[in-house]
This record gives sequence, structure tokens and C-alpha cells, in this order.
Amino acid sequence: HAVNFGVSDFAFYRQEVCRQLIQINPEKTHNKIYVFAPLKLTKKLFSALIEVRKITFTGGKKMRIGLIAHDKKKDEIIVLAKKHKDVLAKHQLFATGTTGTLIMGETGLPINRMKSGPLGGDQQIGSMVADNGLDLLIFLRDPLTAQPHEPDVSALLRLCDVHNIPL
Ligand code: PGA
Repeated sequence: HAVNFGVSDFAFYRQEVCRQLIQINPEKTHNKIYVFAPLKLTKKLFSALIEVRKITFTGGKKMRIGLIAHDKKKDEIIVLAKKHKDVLAKHQLFATGTTGTLIMGETGLPINRMKSGPLGGDQQIGSMVADNGLDLLIFLRDPLTAQPHEPDVSALLRLCDVHNIPL
């Protein structure tokens, strides 16, 4: 499906990044490649990116990012959001109710909150995916606890697959 590629333009990593980018063959293995990169790229890195076709350049444009965490993963998503606060702050954020409230409280990031997952929040995020309203979904799932809204969770994962939304 889709693959995300974080690109650092530091000289130290440049050779390795170019090598890996050229190796990706989107025709065969992936439908879409999302590249997160600084806008000002060196010439060498830029040509490596061009060589890989079907790249989606976010080009500094705001992405619409969904954030969901099951209860036992809430601490982890807070750690993740704090760690990447500067990056997340550049994008438009959406979350299920409790996840969104917690992240907002801990980081101060503005988040568009849906209903809580078990009350339809996952379906609301799924409807955004179906309407081409989301570019990326970060979903920390708890594989060891039965969820009352399991059908909604599977439906959301399926829609991400159908619409090639990186998950
Ligand atoms: P919540 O929903 O953020 O409201 O807890 C997440 C989920 O369980 O899908």
C-alpha cells in the first residue's frame, strides 16, 4: 500500500537516503509514497526523489492527520505527540474524543475532536477517509483487549486500505 518516507537533508544521511529512495519501486510494491521532507532540498536529494515516480510531495502544505489510541495506548500517543509536537503543529489534526482531549491537554495542540471511539468516533474518521479528507492516520491499537466497537475499528482499517491512506 502506501509507504511514508521521512527525508533528512543532513549531509551525514544524504547518501543513504538517496540509496533507499532509488530502491523503492512504486510500480511493484507500493501504490503511493509520501515523502516528508524539508522544502529546501539539495540538488542531489531532489533528483533522487524525482527518480522515484508517484511521489506525493506535501510541499509544505498542511496535511490532515488523524490520531487515535485505544485506552491502553493513550500514554504512548501522548509521548508520541509531545515528542513530535513541532511537526504536528504544522498540520491539521483530527482525533477521536478522548484521545483528542488528552493530547490537547498535554501538548496544547489544537485538535478537531470527533465523538469517542466506542460512540462513533472511528466511523467519523472513516467517513473523512472515504471523502478524501485525511492524508495520514496514526492509530495506536491495543491488540490484547476486546473492544466493544471492534467492527468500527476494522471498518476504519479497511477504508484506509481502500483509499491508500498511510496508517
Ligand atoms: P477515544 O476512542 O479516543 O474516544 O478513546 C478511541 C477508540 O477506542 O477508538
